[in-house]
Amino acid sequence: LTEKLSRLVKQISGQARITESNVADMLREVRMALLEADVALPVVRDFIARVKDKALGQEVMGSLKPGQALVGIVNRELAATMGEGVADLNLATQPPAVILMAGLQGAGKTTTTAKLARHLITKRKKKVLTVSADVYRPAAIEQLKTVSAQAGAEWFPSTPDQKPVDIARAALDYAKKHYFDVLLVDTAGRLAIDEALMREITELHAVLNPVETLFVVDAMQGQDAANTAKAFKEALPLTGIILTKTDGDSRGGAALSVRAITGAPIKFAGTSEKIDGLEVFDAERHAGRILGMGDIVALVEQVAAGVDMAQAQKLAAKVKSGASFDLEDFLSQIQQVKQMGGLSSLLDKLPTQMAAKASEADLSRAEREIARKQGIIHSMTPLERKKPELIKASRKRRIAAGAGVQVQDVNRLLKEFEQMQDMMKKMQGGGLMKLMKRMGG
Ligand code: GDP
Ligand code: MG
Repeated sequence: LTEKLSRLVKQISGQARITESNVADMLREVRMALLEADVALPVVRDFIARVKDKALGQEVMGSLKPGQALVGIVNRELAATMGEGVADLNLATQPPAVILMAGLQGAGKTTTTAKLARHLITKRKKKVLTVSADVYRPAAIEQLKTVSAQAGAEWFPSTPDQKPVDIARAALDYAKKHYFDVLLVDTAGRLAIDEALMREITELHAVLNPVETLFVVDAMQGQDAANTAKAFKEALPLTGIILTKTDGDSRGGAALSVRAITGAPIKFAGTSEKIDGLEVFDAERHAGRILGMGDIVALVEQVAAGVDMAQAQKLAAKVKSGASFDLEDFLSQIQQVKQMGGLSSLLDKLPTQMAAKASEADLSRAEREIARKQGIIHSMTPLERKKPELIKASRKRRIAAGAGVQVQDVNRLLKEFEQMQDMMKKMQGGGLMKLMKRMGG
């Protein structure tokens, strides 16, 4: 949440219900935040109208204050718009299941084709064939050959003098004869939408009858993503979206635009240039990112208000200087949560579904979990805390034994730490920085 937004949340606290007047300022802030995140204007308008509809006159429940309740509505609506649950690739058809990749040039189609091949091979044990119908750039066909080899997928040769539909027919034929489970078809992109491109991909679709038609879109594309998505949706029955380059510094508003405009689920997110840089799309996490890390910011705010300013400032300074966030920092975060009288007191500050969902039982379990994590980090040497990458199998066994836990618990903690570290990196220069500066100053 932006600074101003959290201030407004406080302002309208204490009033019993959400009304037209107390909500107007906040909705204006939400609108600004969405536009700043590069969500397309028509999508923002629709979204605000829906939130207003849901919020007006709603009785504020229990301990939730109106401001927090509204933020809850915003978050829920964001997550709902973005799609809930996990949508893996649909392969429910007579093999070979054909997957057609569509999108602009540079969106990441070729890279993502190979990432999907690897996903299907390693996670779903499929026999995968790739083919390029990009006849305009010989380099593009070679590129697919290279990355397919990295993925361990077979690549079906094509040449620039062939027609895309002929390539498609030949590859489909080959895939059938050799009992492939999946055929991934990479296509040509253009720098902008044009009719010839749309006709070509429509023809490919007719010939291939794909079970998945995936629209690949660059998360950094911002406002333009909406127009591109609209054009592709009109030309093709899209079954899913892949959002690439989410490792970039965009606030990711493209996700909301593209999802709202196409109605297709976002299935995966590209997280690096590497072949394993593909993750199942996490709608809730992404929603948080669009609004500027709502709950993390709230958490930091709580830390600042309550406990140990010196610690918080140290952390702020670290984030600011770009120095690495290590396990010591992670430990001090965990300890601060504990000092604040446990998680229950934090609930007030968390304006998300999380707060609404957490029950007492969840809380005491979470508190035991915190104690366990502390134990694990305490069993590490100072060097290991500074350089977690040192912690390989034998060290893990020693740490687990020292803390009286299983090696899986150590792994889980390290994973969680990595996610936090990742977030810290992403927040540099973002909304949190402003907050941190205010605290530090
Ligand atoms: P295509 O023209 O749609 O086939 O796009 P490419 O697959 O050739 O990708 C264009 C550029 O984007 C390449 O330099 C890729 O390495 C890069 N790229 C693709 N996906 C990602 C991603 O998720 N993260 C990052 N950082 N780079 C990506
Ligand atoms: Mg390509």
